[in-house]
Order: sequence, then C-alpha cells, then structure tokens
Amino acid sequence: MITENVKKLLAEVPEKNSFGEPVTVVAAVKTQHVSAINEAIAAGITEIGDNHVQEFRDKYADIMGEPRRHFIGHLQTNKIKYLIGRCDLYQSVDRYSLAEELSKRSGSAGVVSNVLLQINAGNEETKGGFSFEEAAGACEAIKKLPALNVQGLMAMLPFTDDEGLLRALALKMRALYDELNAKYGNFKYLSMGMSGDWRLCVECGSNMIRVGTTIFGRRITSPK
Ligand SMILES: *Cc1c(COP(=O)(O)O)cnc(C)c1O
Repeated sequence: MITENVKKLLAEVPEKNSFGEPVTVVAAVKTQHVSAINEAIAAGITEIGDNHVQEFRDKYADIMGEPRRHFIGHLQTNKIKYLIGRCDLYQSVDRYSLAEELSKRSGSAGVVSNVLLQINAGNEETKGGFSFEEAAGACEAIKKLPALNVQGLMAMLPFTDDEGLLRALALKMRALYDELNAKYGNFKYLSMGMSGDWRLCVECGSNMIRVGTTIFGRRITSPK
C-alpha cells in the first residue's frame, strides 16, 4: 500500500508550484515503523520529517537510502544535543530561545544548522510559532545568530473545512515569505501543506509539503 501511495502522491505533486519553484515532498514519519519508512524511501521518498527526538534517534541508523532528515515537531531545548549534526533542516524553530540554543550547540559542534521559522498562521493557542506580527523581528534577530542558516518559513494551517480561510492564510504566508526573503535574503523553502491541504497550499505558493497520512494511512499507534 505504501509503495502505491508514494507513487501516486509523487505523480500528483506538480514539479513546480505557481511561482515556478520546485516542490519538495517530505514524508512525515511520526509513529511509523522503520520498515514502513524504508518502504516509502524505496518507492521514491527522499526527505523524511520526525516530530519526536526519541523516534528520530531510535530509528536513525536503520533508515536506508540516506534521505534528508528534517525535524518538524516541538523541540525542547534540552534535547537539541541529540539532533546536532544529524538533522538537515530544523523546520519548527518556534521561539528565539530555541534558535539561540541551537546556534550555540551547532557552533560548539562546528556545524551550521539549517532552520525554518515556524509561523502560527491561524493564531491558534494550541500551536507554537511566531505570529505574523512577530515574524520580521524574529527573523532579523535569528539571522544574526552565527551558526544558523535561515532558509525560510514553516506553517501548519488550522484544521478547518473553510477553504476561503485556508486560502487567505496560505496567501498571507506566501506574502510574508516574499517580504522577509526580499529583506533578509537567501530563502529556499516555504513549508506548508499536509495530507488534507497540500494542493491548496502549493497553489498558493508553498514549495515544500509534509505528508503523513496519504503515504502511511491513518496513524494507529500513539507517539511515544
Ligand atoms: C503529522 C504532521 C504532518 C503530516 O500530517 P498528515 O495530515 O498526516 O499528512 C505535517 N506536519 C507536521 C508538523 C506534522 O506533525
């Protein structure tokens, strides 16, 4: 099933978004067994994203095919040390203190870490991230940290059937991305879109989607 799901997804995702940028597919692998992840990779997945440090560590060595590794979940500052040098893109930098510690630890390890700033696009209390209003200030401050490379923005849109609202927020995210990119430069990724809303997000200018359910089916185990 996973093989078919991946092939179908990769066939459906357009090579380029509406801005002519290539669209990167990241498999969201939380709670999935190594065998399932390896099946997805064998079918064509080249980037994987984990939500939990424990899972990232436990599965790390058994994953085949050298995919690019992303971290996409809430990251506790005291757990950064387990990811340093092994994570290709930290997508969920949602507060300045995390960025500061990540830069410090990266510097000590002699690496530069790629990060995205997480934006709380729907202003939801249950989600982390900078508000639209905070984003420019956060970007300016985090850009100055020596061992980080800010590569763009990440957002999770609210779970809602209101397509008008989703579209408005996705376009607002793209506008913010363009604004900050013009000001601070060197952006590569607007990571926005999951199983339920990736088509809309790509239409609105996302160039990186994080897909779990469409590849692996509904999650039955709960995260550790
Ligand atoms: C689980 C998760 C996804 C994927 O969600 P699906 O709806 O299963 O595709 C994407 N991004 C983050 C941050 C996630 O935690």
